[in-house]
Amino acid sequence: MRQLIRNVEIFDGTGSAPFPGCVLIEDDRIVDILPPQAEVDADTVIDGQGGTLMPGMIDAHTHLTWGSSVEKIYPQFILPPEELKVAAWRNARLLLDHGYTSLYSAGALGDRIEPELARAIKAGETPGPRLIPSTLERSPEGAEGVETGDIFNGRGPEAMRAFVAYCAAEGVKSLKLVISGEDALKPGSSGDILYTDAEMQAAGEAAKDAGLWIATHAYSPPAIDLALEAGARILYHCSFADDAAVDAMAAKKDEIFYAPGPGVSVAALEASPPPHIDMSAMKASASERLEREKTLVPKLKARGVRILPGGDYGFPFNPHGRNARDLEHFVSLYGFAPAEALSAATKLGGELMGQEVGQVKPGFLADLLLIDGDPTQDIRIMQDVQRIKMIMLNGRLHKSPVQQSVAA
Ligand SMILES: [Zn+2]
Repeated sequence: MRQLIRNVEIFDGTGSAPFPGCVLIEDDRIVDILPPQAEVDADTVIDGQGGTLMPGMIDAHTHLTWGSSVEKIYPQFILPPEELKVAAWRNARLLLDHGYTSLYSAGALGDRIEPELARAIKAGETPGPRLIPSTLERSPEGAEGVETGDIFNGRGPEAMRAFVAYCAAEGVKSLKLVISGEDALKPGSSGDILYTDAEMQAAGEAAKDAGLWIATHAYSPPAIDLALEAGARILYHCSFADDAAVDAMAAKKDEIFYAPGPGVSVAALEASPPPHIDMSAMKASASERLEREKTLVPKLKARGVRILPGGDYGFPFNPHGRNARDLEHFVSLYGFAPAEALSAATKLGGELMGQEVGQVKPGFLADLLLIDGDPTQDIRIMQDVQRIKMIMLNGRLHKSPVQQSVAA
C-alpha cells in the first residue's frame, strides 16, 4: 500500500529546519521525499494541513512497570503481579498515544514481563511502541537501597555470567546494571560502587557473546569507568562526573549514549507530597544533581557525546505521559536549541534503538508524527497530545488525522 502525506513542513530528525514537502510511504517504509506539488500515485493521501511531519519520539530510559501515568496514579511503587502487567501494558499504549514510537527499557520491576510485552506488541496483540525489553534492575546481593528483587543475586563473575545467560534465554535485549547507589532512595549512597571490576568485566564479556546490550545506572567517576570498561551501550545520570570522566566518555562517544534524565529531578522538586511521605532526601538529591548537570551536560555535548532525553517516568509525582517534558528541560536546563532536543529524541534515539527509525528518510521505517504547529519554535508543543494530530507506527495509523476531522 502506498500512502502520501502532503501539505506538511518536514522536520527530518537531523536538526535542520523544517522544509515543505510530501512524504511517500510504501507498506512500512518511507520510500521518497518529494517537493510540495509533486504528482504521485498513492492509495491514500493524508492532508497535513500545514502541520509539522516529524519522526516518532524515542524515550531512552523507560520503566514501563513503574505504574503511575497521567491516566492512573498508584500511590504504592510495587504492584501485585497481575496489576503490574496491566500497568505495563497500559503504559506502553499510553506512551504511543503521546507520540513515543520507540522505547529503550531501563529495567523492570517484574521478571519476564517486558520480553512478553515486546512480543505481544510485535504480534499486534496490544498497542505499543517498539520496545527494547529489559529485565529486573540488577544490583548485587547485600546492596541496600535499590530494591530489585533477589532472584538474580549472588556475587562474583560466575553469578554475572549466569545472570546474562538467564536474561538472554528469556528474550531480554538490554541488561540493566545498577553500578552506583541512589541518593533518592538511600541518602548518601550515590558514591557507593556496587560491583567489582571482575564482575563488570564478566558481565561485559558475557553480554557481548550473547548479543545483549548493557544499560547502566552510574553517578560517580569510578562507576562511569566500570560502565565504559564493560562496554555499556548507555549510561544514565552520571551527575558526579569529573573532567577525567568526561574525557573517558568523550573517548567512547561513537560507542555510547548518555541520558541524564532531568525529568524525575525536576518533578521531585515540584512535588508537594502528603504529610506521611517524606521526599526531603529525594528533593535534596534532585537539586544537587540538576545543578551539576547544568554544567556537565553542555560539556559532554560540546565533546560530541550523544545525549538523549527520557528517564524515570512512572512515579506518582512524575507519571508516564509527561515524558516530552524532558525535551523542554534539555532546552531550559542544558541550553539545547529546540531542534537539537528534537533531534536527540528522534535521530539519536533511533541510533540507540539500533533500527532504521528516528528520521524522515527514504528507507527508514514509517514511524511518524504530525504536529499542529512547529516544535522547533516551541518545544512545549510536544507535551500536548491534542497537538499530535497523527501517530503512525510501522506505516500504520495509530491515530488518524482523518478520523479526527470527521469526529469534529
Ligand atoms: Zn531508571
